[in-house]
Amino acid sequence: MKTVGVLALQGDFAAHQAALERAGAESVQVRDAEQLRHIDGLVIPGGESTTMLKLLHYENLLQPVVQFAREKPVFGTCAGAILLAKEVFHPSQESFGIMDIDVERNGYGRQLDSRVAQLEPEADFQQRTAPGRLEAVFIRAPVIRRIGAETKVLVRYNGDPVLVEDRRHLAATFHPELTADSRIHKLFLEKL
Ligand code: GLN
Repeated sequence: MKTVGVLALQGDFAAHQAALERAGAESVQVRDAEQLRHIDGLVIPGGESTTMLKLLHYENLLQPVVQFAREKPVFGTCAGAILLAKEVFHPSQESFGIMDIDVERNGYGRQLDSRVAQLEPEADFQQRTAPGRLEAVFIRAPVIRRIGAETKVLVRYNGDPVLVEDRRHLAATFHPELTADSRIHKLFLEKL
């Protein structure tokens, strides 16, 4: 059985572990580089991307995680998606450059800080998982402002991509770990 690691420096990593369990996978918390050698894929949770970056530097984990992400599947949600991006702005910030996407932090603005939306996923997503609408929880979410030619959009919200993938990676600007719908975590498990 494949093992999924969840980066456990900061943020809602415990909710991801519960979601992975609902999707049928075992997971372990990752806090150092050695642990990366024992996992098949990594989830980078939501939280605060600036804090996560500081902790990644402090733990000497930034380069090992970037190297891992070049070779293995990684799923980033919200702050995790910000870390995976090529360019981050508003304000600009260092990122892994692993996915060919540019993101604007807190792109929905202060008034619309957090919300729950019912979304109609792209047909391809529904065919590969299961049909039906998707409940998406946005919390100070980033907006994906640019996607590369190799990046595929699986779910949109008001026209903006909110769930995107490339061959090995998946990024959500919302929090699929906070709802009972396991389709997105299952889709990630298929990349392992
Ligand atoms: N606004 C946060 C950031 O910029 C992300 C919020 C989240 O992960 N829910 O890192």
